[in-house]
Amino acid sequence: MKKVILTGVRPSGNLTLGNYLGAIKNFVDRQEQYDSYIFIADLHAITSPKDPQKLKEAVYNCVAMYLACGVDPKKTIVFKQSDVLEHGTLGFIMTFQTKMGELSRMTQFKLKSQQQTKEGVDTGLFVYPTLMVADILLYNTSIVPVGKDQQQHVELTRDLAERFNKRYGQTFTMPDVYVAPVGNKILNLQNPLEKMNKSDSGDNKGTIFLMDDIEVAKKKIMSAKTDNLAHVHFDEENQPGISNLMSILSKITDEDFESIEKRYEGKGYGEFKKEVAEVVAKTLAEIQAKFKQFNNKDMLDKILSNGAIDAQKVASQTLKRAANALGLN
Ligand code: ATP
Ligand code: MG
Repeated sequence: MKKVILTGVRPSGNLTLGNYLGAIKNFVDRQEQYDSYIFIADLHAITSPKDPQKLKEAVYNCVAMYLACGVDPKKTIVFKQSDVLEHGTLGFIMTFQTKMGELSRMTQFKLKSQQQTKEGVDTGLFVYPTLMVADILLYNTSIVPVGKDQQQHVELTRDLAERFNKRYGQTFTMPDVYVAPVGNKILNLQNPLEKMNKSDSGDNKGTIFLMDDIEVAKKKIMSAKTDNLAHVHFDEENQPGISNLMSILSKITDEDFESIEKRYEGKGYGEFKKEVAEVVAKTLAEIQAKFKQFNNKDMLDKILSNGAIDAQKVASQTLKRAANALGLN
């Protein structure tokens, strides 16, 4: 039997180069080796209020983008989280297995709750990691490719699975996180101290959206913030901007940092940026050409409804096992 791989993205905006390089590409590269599941994390998108129509559009956009990035619905179960009700129920159960302290020490919560202090911090922001725990455990997942920012939540999943199994008997499969060595945290091009986020505003010069106009994307790379050290060198602390561009280049072309450094010895940043811009432009052009092909709502609806049926078969068994273990039926 094949092991299970699973990942998901929130339909909270247009997908970025960070989402692609940090999560989706690592999934696509492995979809044949594993029993594969990729979902649209729409329940996670309502952690903060959203325009309902925009959310619906973002879901379609996200599925079409998965396909454009190489997800093959013949090999992978593609589904929408809210179509499989077991996510909510197991999420609820797992919230009850979790200590307040375990959730309040999550880095993402600490970071994002600071930005919400004016009107109060949403509970969703606090408890969404336990929904993520359910997302992963429902499918007996062995490997979860995510960006660095989500690593801690997969580790929480391991802690909770282990605790549950110890308390109530073997119920859940232990998942492993897969954070790729390169490109696990693509930084904002204008502020290379912060992660590139899809919920950054649409005209953000520091964020490469996969649907960006190719010339605009190139300009964003050419005007990326760097430093005045004038040598292409991988040093995340002292040269975060250049290191970020090197990560992008290396992740796309597979060339290692040493080789990139050698090629650019004694050369300026302009030339280097130009190569990164070209490589990114090519990647975007390929994705965008495929996106056009897949941007068909009838076809996407069919993929999602088939995916939900297949996903639900597995999820319902896991939920039954967990409910039995707890004495709930
Ligand atoms: P949001 O701003 O809405 O949180 P996001 O860009 O952080 O959007 P998520 O939907 O939260 O995207 O995350 C989807 C996946 O993409 C996760 O596995 C996450 O770790 C990964 N990811 C997100 N941003 C980056 C990034 N800048 N570099 C690498 N991986 C990333
Ligand atoms: Mg995020």
